[in-house]
Amino acid sequence: MNAARGQEGDGEAGPAPGTDPPLDFIRTIVAADRAAGKHEGRVGTRFPPEPNGFLHIGHAKSIVLNFGVAAENGGTCNLRYDDTNPAKEETLYVESIAADVRWLGYRWEGSRKFASDYFERLYEFAETLIRRGKAYVDSLSAEEVRATRGTLETPGTESPYRNRTAEENLDLFRRMRAGEFPDGTHVLRARIDMASGNLNLRDPTLYRIRRLRHHRTGDDWCIYPMYDFAHALSDSIEGITHSLCTLEFEDHRPLYDWCVAESRAEFVPRQIEFARLNVSYTVLSKRRLLRLVSEGHVSGWDDPRMPTLAGLRRRGVPPAAIRAFCERVGVAKRDSTVDIALLEHAVREELNRTSPRLMGVLDPVRLVVENYAEDAEETLDAVNNPEDPAAGARQVPFARELLIERADFMEDPPRKFYRLAPGREVRLRYAFLVTCTGFTKDADGRVQEIRCRLDPESRGGDAPDGRRVRATLHWVSARHAVPATVRLYDRLFRVEHPGRDGDFTGDLNPDSMRVNNDARIEPSVRDLSPGDRIQLERLGYFVADSGDHRRESPVLNRTVSLRDTWARIAKRIG
Ligand code: ATP
Ligand code: MG
Repeated sequence: MNAARGQEGDGEAGPAPGTDPPLDFIRTIVAADRAAGKHEGRVGTRFPPEPNGFLHIGHAKSIVLNFGVAAENGGTCNLRYDDTNPAKEETLYVESIAADVRWLGYRWEGSRKFASDYFERLYEFAETLIRRGKAYVDSLSAEEVRATRGTLETPGTESPYRNRTAEENLDLFRRMRAGEFPDGTHVLRARIDMASGNLNLRDPTLYRIRRLRHHRTGDDWCIYPMYDFAHALSDSIEGITHSLCTLEFEDHRPLYDWCVAESRAEFVPRQIEFARLNVSYTVLSKRRLLRLVSEGHVSGWDDPRMPTLAGLRRRGVPPAAIRAFCERVGVAKRDSTVDIALLEHAVREELNRTSPRLMGVLDPVRLVVENYAEDAEETLDAVNNPEDPAAGARQVPFARELLIERADFMEDPPRKFYRLAPGREVRLRYAFLVTCTGFTKDADGRVQEIRCRLDPESRGGDAPDGRRVRATLHWVSARHAVPATVRLYDRLFRVEHPGRDGDFTGDLNPDSMRVNNDARIEPSVRDLSPGDRIQLERLGYFVADSGDHRRESPVLNRTVSLRDTWARIAKRIG
């Protein structure tokens, strides 16, 4: 079988270029900068994750944007880990982030970069600031620094250490680096303006003393740079022309520009902010995702219900669907929440085009074809993907004893039920027209077996006389079908905005995973490898689980149902 898998990550350059959509505000700025000959028209971006968790769908928006803008302009995009906080960072995260970016279909420029690679140069920039009277060693406690910062209404108070001489500051800063002082006794602060209306400019801390082992630099350093300083100067060091970040950094931009200018860094990057992606029915903060994992609400960072890229991958979501989703969401300057139905829509669209179809029954009941010989069997041609003629056809075995979906039969159907019922004729997909002749029940009154006769003239499923048959059912041959475990996933939360009223874990959907061990799938399921995606006709899109699937005992995860069963198609489609 020619299942949809594996193509991703094999050197694809990213999303296929569309047909000239109008430029968003970031692309407009980039185009104008190029037209003005800024940086000789060169474009360099970066994706700057902090390695303290797995990437999620929100990060995908930033990745698609940064790599997209670079590619569209013949530029480059760096992968740079913002590893300035040794307390929270782990090598496991570094590797998962790289794998996820690659899986999404992107290639970063050169080797992976780390802010920690620049610790020495950042230190030199800090000395430049000190020499120029733009930074000072403050010996107030963290508490005192906080207490003297002022508020939005009132200015801050200048530290008594603010007017130390450059020599004194240089000496103290070098001794901080040399490890002469305990943690928390001194910090290096920018000397900007304690009365600024922007609190970020009230002499922000640039360096702290922290005796922590760093995942890359080990014990080389006992002082670590703060994010704003390290980020701006790392961008400058790498020659990033457009530093795209989320809106919460808008108020930090004056500090970003100050750090570059006052450190006398050669290259001047430009920071541009865009709205972060929020998605309904899920949470996207690493702190919350970490809680879901550590408190055991999910099986791990790659649980198929997680909005992490690892989770979406295990769920069966193709990277092309994530790229399409991010592109459709676009970039804007105002925060909003995107309906998760929009993501599911993109997933269905992609999988409809690319997934081979199989038949499987989740809740089987026996259907016996009375006029088909006990020992007979035949194979029927079934189309692999009606959306893709190149996908070809496969053989499906047919025999006297079949299994159909229990819900496709009713003893006493209401008017609008067109599926199987006593005396009713239906089509068995790719097989025959059958008419129900009777059924039996067990002691509990549950239907045990349904009986029918087929029309031998209807091979393939077409009525010989063109008579109307309203329903088409999926089925499997009882003795050929393969038992499978099917995990039926649903949204992880049952409310649109988890955590709006109380702790977000109170909003978890108790039915977000149902495990079905009764499923029977047609024999071609044996051709699937872990990660292969299929459609089970009428039931949804599924993926062979990357961890637990075996040829002899298939484990399928439902990626998404065929239709949106939550809202009647959402606000933002189209
Ligand atoms: P979180 O809030 O989940 O902890 P973060 O911002 O701390 O995320 P980083 O590792 O610092 O995570 O993010 C790397 C990049 O991804 C940053 O440029 C950040 O702005 C961007 N990013 C993070 N979350 C989103 C989001 N929801 N939408 C768009 N971009 C995001
Ligand atoms: Mg961050």
